[in-house]
Amino acid sequence: MIVARTRAELETALARLPRPLGAVPTMGALHAGHLSLARCARAENASVALTIFVNPTQFLPHEDFERYPRPLAQDLALAEEVGVDLVFAPPVEEVYPPGFATTVSVAGPSQRWEGVCRPGHFTGVATVVTRLLNLLRPERAYFGEKDYQQLQVVRRLVSDLALPVEIVGCPTVRDPDGLALSSRNVYLSPEERQQALALSRALFTAAERVAVGERDARALEALMHQHVTAAGLEVDYLAVVDPVSLEPVSEIRHPARALGAVRVGTVRLIDNVALVPPPP
Ligand code: AMP
Repeated sequence: MIVARTRAELETALARLPRPLGAVPTMGALHAGHLSLARCARAENASVALTIFVNPTQFLPHEDFERYPRPLAQDLALAEEVGVDLVFAPPVEEVYPPGFATTVSVAGPSQRWEGVCRPGHFTGVATVVTRLLNLLRPERAYFGEKDYQQLQVVRRLVSDLALPVEIVGCPTVRDPDGLALSSRNVYLSPEERQQALALSRALFTAAERVAVGERDARALEALMHQHVTAAGLEVDYLAVVDPVSLEPVSEIRHPARALGAVRVGTVRLIDNVALVPPPP
């Protein structure tokens, strides 16, 4: 496995990798969710490149950029174990050199939910994803459904700018009790982790209700709200939305998505599930 820290090292490494190339952009602190993306990329491509970059522009000033976990040695060992060929782990100035002055801003699917709670976040994401895709020039890039809104923003971005890459979405990996894996779960105390389970449980309850015929999106949102507030979680949003536009739906006649963001103590967690109505 090659580790590149600079754009020059990256270019040299890329020239030696057989194509097609699958790219897996991450912020590191790798867990089984990230590794599932790398395995998926491994199965579908001749080479796999994983990027590790804690992107400062997608954090708001009060957020956890400084304390975000950065266990690089452990990440490199995990990447190697799952057959990654190249890790690109650049310092900030390789991604944003002096004079960097461009941002990529996606409207549409960015505008609600995380876009409201974390203003500017998706512009940071879209800018860094565009830059990383242009540096790596992969045939395919892998993103998790865990960050469902981000996946739709990236799909919109790639389509609108005609970037020559196929975006592959991969299912959310969860702990056996249902908690979606996240690098931020390390911030949770044992008690908070227990409380946090209410989010995935609320989402799964909504999915079960839809599967047996519930169509009323507002009723489902109220139900999810009850679940998570009963567990002592603060709700940022719990919403039933169109799976592509992310606009709210009122009646579930087609597959939809339930999205949630909650706070437990100082930790903010997001999760989502597919809502699939029964056949007519
Ligand atoms: P991050 O390091 O949090 O920026 O995540 C990097 C990529 O891994 C993103 O595409 C995420 O959606 C994906 N990812 C994070 N957690 C999970 C998970 N539990 N299951 C699947 N993919 C995930």
